[in-house]
Amino acid sequence: MPGAQSLSVWDAPLTQLKGVGPKLAQKLTRLNLFTLQDILFHLPHRYQDRTRIKNIANLTPGSEITTEGVIQSSRIVFGRRRSLICQVDDHSGHLTLRFFHFSRAQKDTLKPGAKLRCFGEVRRGVTSLEMIHPEYTFVSPENPHYEAEQSYTPIFPSTQGISQSLLRNLVKQALKLLEHHPLNNWLPIKLLPPLTSRDLAVCLKWMHFPPADTPFEQLDPGKNPNRRRLAFEELIAHRLAMLERQKTYQKEAAFACPKNNTALKQLTQALSFSLTSAQQRVIHEISHDLSGTRPMQRLLQGDVGSGKTLVAATAILQCIKAGYQAALMVPTEILAEQHTQSFTHWFEPMGIKVAAISGQLRIRERNQRIQSLQEGQIDLVIGTHALFQADVHFKQLALIVIDEQHRFGVDQRLALRQKGGPLGQTPHQLIMTATPIPRTLAMTLYADLNCSVIDELPPDRQTIKTVVMPESRRDALITRIREALTAGTQVYWVCTLIDESETLQCQTAEKTTEVLQSALPGSAVGLLHGRMKPDEKETIMARYKSGDIQLLVATTVIEVGVNVPNASLMVIENAERLGLSQLHQLRGRVGRGNKSSSCVLLYQGPLTQTAKERLAIMRETNDGFKIAEKDLEIRGSGELMGVKQTGVMQFRIADLRTDAHLLDAVQATTTHLQKNNPDAIQPLIRRWLRQTEIYVHV
Ligand code: ADP
Ligand code: MG
Repeated sequence: MPGAQSLSVWDAPLTQLKGVGPKLAQKLTRLNLFTLQDILFHLPHRYQDRTRIKNIANLTPGSEITTEGVIQSSRIVFGRRRSLICQVDDHSGHLTLRFFHFSRAQKDTLKPGAKLRCFGEVRRGVTSLEMIHPEYTFVSPENPHYEAEQSYTPIFPSTQGISQSLLRNLVKQALKLLEHHPLNNWLPIKLLPPLTSRDLAVCLKWMHFPPADTPFEQLDPGKNPNRRRLAFEELIAHRLAMLERQKTYQKEAAFACPKNNTALKQLTQALSFSLTSAQQRVIHEISHDLSGTRPMQRLLQGDVGSGKTLVAATAILQCIKAGYQAALMVPTEILAEQHTQSFTHWFEPMGIKVAAISGQLRIRERNQRIQSLQEGQIDLVIGTHALFQADVHFKQLALIVIDEQHRFGVDQRLALRQKGGPLGQTPHQLIMTATPIPRTLAMTLYADLNCSVIDELPPDRQTIKTVVMPESRRDALITRIREALTAGTQVYWVCTLIDESETLQCQTAEKTTEVLQSALPGSAVGLLHGRMKPDEKETIMARYKSGDIQLLVATTVIEVGVNVPNASLMVIENAERLGLSQLHQLRGRVGRGNKSSSCVLLYQGPLTQTAKERLAIMRETNDGFKIAEKDLEIRGSGELMGVKQTGVMQFRIADLRTDAHLLDAVQATTTHLQKNNPDAIQPLIRRWLRQTEIYVHV
């Protein structure tokens, strides 16, 4: 058995490697690299192909490769940005090179007839494939040879001050060590599902340095069995960690908050509507948990507009009426402001003190609030992650509600748990999300939570009519908006730009605002983007809510939770480039009142087949769960719950889109391990999870 002895080798510190002193080792901890094993499992997130020169005809968009060709033409164009465009030809096809920053001397050398070897990421351009700012050298009689690499070049997750070549060198040393010191294999072949039964060491070697003769398609995460084997193990480790976490919760104490029907009645009777039966059901589930002495860990799923805020209010009320405090955490300042208004409106008549702690408070004000919070004069505090800060303490925090959970990381969610009571009580947690999660995924992502679902919308809701429209019909669209504005409708215009920086996104939004304002004289056009100061944002939102602004141009900052019932028309630009769940979230900003609402999805053609299908789904249904399932079906195209972008759960290589089909086996195997090989649990968790993820809850 390759047991204790070899394990200790892999647990050794990185200073065991050549060239790593204490200082560098310290630096590497920033990448969560502590032990030799950590290096082995620090897997590349993509590859470059420097193994050969490819024909232009064989280039695949999205890959980083080397190609060669002769410049046919070279010119400067003045579009949105001034750029130098070179057309390159190698007899098999054309490639466009695009430079935004270039010197005059550079331009002069990039002239027709010059032969170039260039390396860069291939993208789909308007008329041909493109490379933006490639690395290039001139091919000349003095410089004819190409030094090919023996394997694809791994690109590792890294951070400032740690170079790729350093990481490559460390990984090489670790792989060398692997030849003499086998790793403990916690998943014997018979436990591996079909298509993943491979030797662990072989998979690791391959993932770090895929041999040059590997066909490019094999690098595709969905098609690579070596990656799949490792991803399977990673998913198992995460699930085990969550199940362990759940075990510790069950040993913790919480403030028991008895049910309070009188208070609940007082709250609901003041409303202008009655609760849906789905709301009543989940309120009951939550209320039951809160009355117990173990901390509640509950996920509340409900489509956009299903009325989750009110459900949260009932839970908060129950805890406050029991004599404790509650905290409501939201991802944006806009949402914090909006919730503060709603909760103050509901709770103040009942003598409950609501306050916000936001990033924009002046120091004195902030200190005052923190003090009242600590003394227990504030019952409900609302804020963004400003609530996490070390100097925020509670007198007796019984409940944490997290709104729009997909915007927060697991670590953040766990960090707030430490702020409970003076005797170490853990707060109850209610985690709310509008992003529907298919069952199998929920079991992986939230194995440590119980789940409640609001599967019904309030009866007064209008369905949102969705129209898909090419960018070229913008003028007709503006005419339509003019009519809508005249009729008293309020409109959102959402600017999105996926690949570009936030700054650029804001600039585009500014420009769009100008264009729309001059096309719509007499209407008040406002602008909202992520770079604005919190109080500016707040003012704009307040003016939009009051109807003072009729058309609001915004970046995706309005994605979550914003509630302006009179807004009933939304335009989303570049819709073909957004994920379905994000589109659904955005669209959910309209159709919140009793006006019939519509959403226009503007796209830039031509559309790929998948893009067409995706937009068609948006047109066909308003049901978030259906959309999420379809998203899973259209393989590789979804971005369920924005897992990738926001790192709800940061996997090294597993990807819930490509690996969804493994999840049943993941469940079965974790159960098997718990029963038959509990010794594997801690080592697997240590191997795959970052230290912060493991220890934050203890
Ligand atoms: P979400 O679930 O997206 O957070 P909200 O809680 O913001 O939705 O609710 C959306 C709107 O629906 C709010 O204006 C809210 O007051 C209203 N609402 C909530 N519950 C009901 C109900 N049972 N009947 C009618 N309107 C409701
Ligand atoms: Mg909400």
